[in-house]
Amino acid sequence: MILNNTLKPFAALSFVTLLAAFLHISGVLDTERSLYGGTNDAIIDSFLVGDVTGTFVEEDGHSIMTCELGNIQTFHLCGIALQLAEQDKTSGINVSTYETIELELNYKAPVDNAKIKVTLRNHHENYSTLSDPTSQKFNTVSFDTSKFTGPIIVPLDAFQVENWWIDQYQVDFKDSLMDISNVVHLEFITHGMPVAGEYEISLKSVTLRGVIISEYNLFKAIFGLWIVVGLIMLLRQHYQLREISKKDALTGLYNNLGIHQEIQSIPSTNTVYMFHICLNELKEINDIYGHDIGDNTLIHSSNIIKDKISRFAEKSYLCRFSGDEFVIVFDNLAEEEVQSLAHSMVSGGQYAIPIPLHNIFISMSLGVAKTQDIVNKFDTLIAHSSAAMHHAKNNQLPSFQEFDETFSQNIYFEKLVSQFIKEALFKGEFHLNYMPIYDTKLLKASAFEVLLRTTSENMKGIGPDVFIPVAEKFNLIKEIDTWVIENTFKNIEKNYSFLKENPVKFCINISSEQLKNPPFVKQLKGLLTEYCIPPEWIELELTETSLVKTEQESIDILHGIRALGVDLSLDDYGTGYISFNQLVNYPVNNLKIDKSFVDLLETDDDQAAMIIQAIQSLATSYKLTTVAEGVETPKQYDYLSKLGCDFIQGYVFSKPLPWPLAKERIISPATETERLKNRLAQ
Ligand code: C2E
Ligand code: CA
Ligand code: CA
Repeated sequence: MILNNTLKPFAALSFVTLLAAFLHISGVLDTERSLYGGTNDAIIDSFLVGDVTGTFVEEDGHSIMTCELGNIQTFHLCGIALQLAEQDKTSGINVSTYETIELELNYKAPVDNAKIKVTLRNHHENYSTLSDPTSQKFNTVSFDTSKFTGPIIVPLDAFQVENWWIDQYQVDFKDSLMDISNVVHLEFITHGMPVAGEYEISLKSVTLRGVIISEYNLFKAIFGLWIVVGLIMLLRQHYQLREISKKDALTGLYNNLGIHQEIQSIPSTNTVYMFHICLNELKEINDIYGHDIGDNTLIHSSNIIKDKISRFAEKSYLCRFSGDEFVIVFDNLAEEEVQSLAHSMVSGGQYAIPIPLHNIFISMSLGVAKTQDIVNKFDTLIAHSSAAMHHAKNNQLPSFQEFDETFSQNIYFEKLVSQFIKEALFKGEFHLNYMPIYDTKLLKASAFEVLLRTTSENMKGIGPDVFIPVAEKFNLIKEIDTWVIENTFKNIEKNYSFLKENPVKFCINISSEQLKNPPFVKQLKGLLTEYCIPPEWIELELTETSLVKTEQESIDILHGIRALGVDLSLDDYGTGYISFNQLVNYPVNNLKIDKSFVDLLETDDDQAAMIIQAIQSLATSYKLTTVAEGVETPKQYDYLSKLGCDFIQGYVFSKPLPWPLAKERIISPATETERLKNRLAQ
């Protein structure tokens, strides 16, 4: 585009240059003015001075002046003169606009090499008076006409002011230079008459020739034009590049740099709101339909946003901030307007993207933040609006999130917790608890869910339900998962012979982050080998929600885990949206029915029972076992037992326990069964 715009003027310039050269060479730019001869009947006079007699005749288109010099001792001359002046005798012809004077002229004298003088008589008020005709400047050239055949072409710059004239009129140096800008006479005068005899001047034509513009001036002008156009283009290109560097190539909106520059003019007293928008589904659209459709979606989405804020076009700056994020800065917008605009952006849910043959919808997550003195607080505003947007996105808020005081405290809290996690990992302030999982019918502990605990003073009252999501957010979860797996294995290793006698499974929670971490399988295998752990003793729990958006790579990781002989369990089953026939894609062994369904069993809501029944029959048909979590009462146990749940986990039988206590749950199965029966009888 820029190149095209640059090439056009240069192509035009090249054309003009070639055209000028052509016109110059072909003579189209030539000019001429006939002063005498042909149809020009200019007034011509003759004159004689001294002891000279003469005759002047016009015949065959020639003016012939014949002079006879008698006495050479007297001052003498003989000549003819063309009158070039107007009536007033002072307004002549500007000969200087021509380059040459072409003469058909012949001079005969009674001596060899006789020269004739051709004089352009210039009138100028500095030195000329009408009363003294000699005061008109003598610009003269002299030559021997016999040396020429055909017309004589005399360059005008060959003329020079006669010295005697300079001496006689004592003119300043500037008036002593050749001047042919107002020539009133053109004279042909004998140049000295050294011997007595007949002299003859024969004139046929006088023509001035020139060009509209001289070659030198023409190319000087074109060179100047090239320089000027070049400079203009350079400046324009510089400006365009500066503009382009501020814009996003795909959407034409400002980019980061652009918006940063644009907001510089906002006064620090103005209240500024920032909207941070994320297109929730763009990544999936790119993955499923490819980047062309993704790009198209982005363009349509940017138009939707533009449309939404069109009322405030003059008060807003819209920017494509990153791949799927947009940022809008609103300058001095009323709070009610901000609220209703933000609401209208997200409350509609999904926007249909009009791409033919594709059924594409996009929804937006929106974070809003406000500040004054945006020039100095731009980065903070970006951080605040971005945190609010991520919160809205991660929590799938139906509306937008504002970065207000409460929210800022949340973030502060999370940052603090992440700091505490790092410290606890460093200081070894984590340990594990084991929560027994019982066979529903046998009332016998057959597995333990491994649950993380901390002794960190800073984290008193902060359980894994709070710090695990923070660890996920702050990229600490992989380290935690590895720590849990390794420490579970260490415990198994220590109790190997006991566990061989009393086999149970250890169910370890792992984060969905591991599904994006292919080296995890290798790492797990390494740890199993290092601690000599029979893989059938291990089950990994993954939340169902983490599997909803699973890609092939993640499924491969699941298969990799299964290939090691380790079992897989779907945690919090029923809270995600894995459709029944989707389940076949996941190589899991067990479904953990979420506590929220168990909680409803004792209420009037009989939907929970129906859901559990459905999960149960699904599990049966896929040959999966089921664990009901969060069972707190004997009544819930009864329900679940009747619904066919294979395993029960909950406070009704046991809370999570340190290993020595947990060990007791399996050390004597008969006593334990007895304890549970009593518990159920209460
Ligand atoms: P989860 O995997 O669903 O774990 C079950 C949670 O429910 C545990 O809470 C457990 O103590 C609690 N629970 C079990 N039965 C009952 C009951 O009858 N009543 C009540 N009120 N609660 C019950 P906890 O230990 O606080 O763990 C919370 C969540 O933290 C876990 O949910 C799991 O998602 C995560 N988590 C815990 N430990 C780890 C770990 O080592 N690694 C990872 N990645 N996540 C962990
Ligand atoms: Ca779990
Ligand atoms: Ca669970």
